[in-house]
This record gives sequence, C-alpha cells and structure tokens, in this order.
Amino acid sequence: MSQSSVSKSRSGTSPGHRVLEYLGIAAFFLLAALIGAEIYRGVPGTAYLLALPLLAVAAYLVADLLSGFVHFLLDNFGSAKTPVFGPNFIKPFRDHHTDPTGIVRHDFVDTNGNNSLVSVPFMLVVWLAVPVSTTVWGFLFGTFFLLLAGAVFLTNQFHKWAHMDEPPAWVARLQDWGVILSKRHHDIHHESPYDTYYCITVGVWNPLLDRTRFFERAERLLRRTVPGTDPRLRVEREGSLNERSTPG
Ligand SMILES: [Zn+2]
Ligand SMILES: [Zn+2]
Repeated sequence: MSQSSVSKSRSGTSPGHRVLEYLGIAAFFLLAALIGAEIYRGVPGTAYLLALPLLAVAAYLVADLLSGFVHFLLDNFGSAKTPVFGPNFIKPFRDHHTDPTGIVRHDFVDTNGNNSLVSVPFMLVVWLAVPVSTTVWGFLFGTFFLLLAGAVFLTNQFHKWAHMDEPPAWVARLQDWGVILSKRHHDIHHESPYDTYYCITVGVWNPLLDRTRFFERAERLLRRTVPGTDPRLRVEREGSLNERSTPG
C-alpha cells in the first residue's frame, strides 16, 4: 500500500538507508545492463554460447555458498550497534530470527535493496576493469559474474518466498523441485540456536556444511584470530539463545 513511500521501510531500516536502497537497485540494473551489453558485443563465437548453462550452474552454486557465508557473518558477528553495517545490515538479520515472518511483509525495495548495494561495487569493478567484450577470458568471466550477480539479487526474494505459507503456485513448484530455497529446508535454520543451514539461495550446500561443521569451525577460527571479536561462541546473539527454543 505504501510501497511508493520513500520514508517507509517495513524492514525497520532508516529513511536514509531506504533512499540508498532505491539507488542501489537502480545502480544494480544499470550496471547489469552495461555488463550485459559488453557480453553481447564480446561473444567470441556461437560455440561459446554452449558454455552458458555451465556458467549459470556454477554461478548459482557460488551464489548459494556466498549467501551462506554472508548470512553466517551477519548472524554471528557484530551487533545492531556496529558502525555503518549495524543498523541496516546486521539488525535485519537478527530481527529475522525473532520475527521470521516479518520478511513476508517486506516490499521489493526492502527485500532486494541490501543485496543490490553489496553487489554494486563489484559490478562497477567488473564493468570498468574486465575486458569482457575484447577477450575470451573476459567474456567467460563477465558472463559468469553477471549470472552470479543475478543469483545474488534473487537470493533474498527466494528467502522471502521460503517464509510464505502460500507462495505463488509456480514458486511452490520450483521449491518442490529443489530449484530454489524451500520452506521445509530453510526452517532448519530457524531452529534455535540458528547455527546451521545458512545458505539461502537454494541451500544445496547446507547438508554438506552441516555435516562437516564448517560454520562452527569457521566461527571458532574467526573468533580466535580476528581482533575485536568475542572469543566465546555465540554470546552476542542478543539473548536469542535463551529466549527462543522453538522453531521460528
Ligand atoms: Zn539467520
Ligand atoms: Zn529466514
């Protein structure tokens, strides 16, 4: 209803951040079009188009892994008071554990603004520095990168759909086929203490990362080595460990 209002963010971020999110989404689409045009101009030969499905699968898998790692960092390190990233990047993730269905009420800008904002600097570098239209490696990397950026953009939309009781029928079908993150799969992350199944594009890495206790080891390593992080495990989850014991 108030989707057009710049000042109203349903994710609870500040009006200033809301403006940034609008700009981030606009810049994302502009840079995607510019990189896309470079790719189009640079196709080295039709045979190279056969690489597209392979690059798409690779980009999708990398996006899923990236989503897990970024989600892991935002869930476990820093707090809502952390400078710059705290109020608008970390807080929404922490709030999401106490109000898991809040994301369903997020509009397009709330849902996709942050992922656009984090992608834009990388897209700018690729557009400025990678010879996409003049070299074969540039073409292949540029294509992979654009597909990756697209998957990153879609990730929080998939995450939002995974929280809907009744997503659109075609979305539910994609979830059932395991093409995008499903509710059943993502619900595992929403069980206290929220320390596994962080990947939220499709979640294909989650069973492997869970079995190998990858994030538990990564957390321990980071807390031991990064100055300023609390060496104790997961003490900064703002009470979520004690407050919630039932699935979100
Ligand atoms: Zn989480
Ligand atoms: Zn969630």
